[in-house]
Amino acid sequence: MDSEQLREYGHRMVDFIADYYKTIETFPVLSQVQPGYLHNLLPDSAPDQPETVEQVLDDVKTKILPGITHWQSPTFYAYYPSNSSVAGFLGEMLSAGLGIVGFSWVTSPAATELEMIVLDWLAKLLNLPEQFLSKGNGGGVIQGSASEAILVVMIGAREKVLRRVGKNALGKLVVYSSDQTHSALQKACQIAGIHPENCRVLKADSSTNYALRPELLQEAVSKDIEAGLIPFFLCGNVGTTSSTAVDPLAALGKIAKSNEIWFHVDAAYAGSACICPEYRQYIDGVETADSFNMNAHKWFLTNFDCSLLWVKDQYVLTEALSTNPEFLKNKASQANLVVDYKDWQIPLGRRFRSLKLWMVLRLYGAETLKSYIRNHIKLAKDLEQLVSQDPNFEVVTPRIFSLVCFRILPVDNDEKECNNRNRNLLDAVNSSGKLFLSHTALSGKIVLRCAIGAPLTEERHVKETWKVIQEEASRLLGK
Ligand code: PLP
Repeated sequence: MDSEQLREYGHRMVDFIADYYKTIETFPVLSQVQPGYLHNLLPDSAPDQPETVEQVLDDVKTKILPGITHWQSPTFYAYYPSNSSVAGFLGEMLSAGLGIVGFSWVTSPAATELEMIVLDWLAKLLNLPEQFLSKGNGGGVIQGSASEAILVVMIGAREKVLRRVGKNALGKLVVYSSDQTHSALQKACQIAGIHPENCRVLKADSSTNYALRPELLQEAVSKDIEAGLIPFFLCGNVGTTSSTAVDPLAALGKIAKSNEIWFHVDAAYAGSACICPEYRQYIDGVETADSFNMNAHKWFLTNFDCSLLWVKDQYVLTEALSTNPEFLKNKASQANLVVDYKDWQIPLGRRFRSLKLWMVLRLYGAETLKSYIRNHIKLAKDLEQLVSQDPNFEVVTPRIFSLVCFRILPVDNDEKECNNRNRNLLDAVNSSGKLFLSHTALSGKIVLRCAIGAPLTEERHVKETWKVIQEEASRLLGK
């Protein structure tokens, strides 16, 4: 690394990025390019000789930016947000600058210790039970994604139950969740070798706002036990991907506990809101869980990737995931004096991701972060009201956090036509380039999702967004 080159190029890159943010509203939010567009614009092979940073930045402007969907745009409302912030950006920069790989404590003690400290800080902000803190058997770890978080706890839970019932029982292990649970759970089951017929996907419908009914879980567990199967893993949700449904954690946890089932709570998106005392109620019952995850990279101003996972018993992870090859042996690990995060995750190598979360917590402070969340929820409330005042539309599920689920109402009860019309509305608003929404299906209805949570979103953006949606809807309805 040439320090002076870094200084010069780094300043130029920061200027480039700052200008990008200044002009972000001028780009179509959803990239409008066609598949394969970049092949026609870039050479077939890497250059033999060095090029200049100006040449590369020119290509970024003219060739890469057209193929960018602007997740940080104030009118990006699709999926869930993936926040970028000055603090998160600086943390990423510092992490890249230090360039360490922190798989074992000895490879950079600060990386492991800072991660333990900031995960404890955040556990305290969320008022998680003490058992999730690092001072006892528990603790937190940063994973790359919620999918990895769910996979590692499932593998830990699998090994734990197999130690109890015998290694040959893998084919009998059963996993439970509602049909609203993210597909990350299905992927974890596929990787963990859970038989596809042993994945109980329990129906959750509009009668509970798409939350899992504990009676259904109890029924399924009892039936499986009777059939000689072994219930071992339950995934509960706080803030489902489709509609932010919140499962009744305490009731689910009670069933899990009495049947020796590992209880994981996925709060990938909504967990952030629970640092506000008025939203903490949505994770009430988390004390019955064995593990809990939230993505700081979604709605917590921390640049991707930063998925936080807490477990009450770290040894469940380390017993399943530890390796101890000669080339990694060192005194601190051998003496059991330290945490080696390589044994809490799938890869060996790991980035210094806690730096960015630490920067976010320090440069903004908890009170600013709470206001940030509350502001988005208020904007979503405003939008929910605008939707409900329009006779052509309905709010499909009551808004809880900052996601509004809505659709154009059917004409003459024609649900099929209504689904087509909502799909067309989605295509029309997204191809306008003015905003980006995504969709889901709830009880067979195509529903548009407006997830408010980009750091730059203000009231004026939401008002303008609603105007665009209304105009396109009027056109489709021939009004
Ligand atoms: N769980 C929920 C509730 C989600 O909304 C998502 C993604 O949006 C995930 C899990 C998967 O997240 P990741 O991309 O971090 O694996």
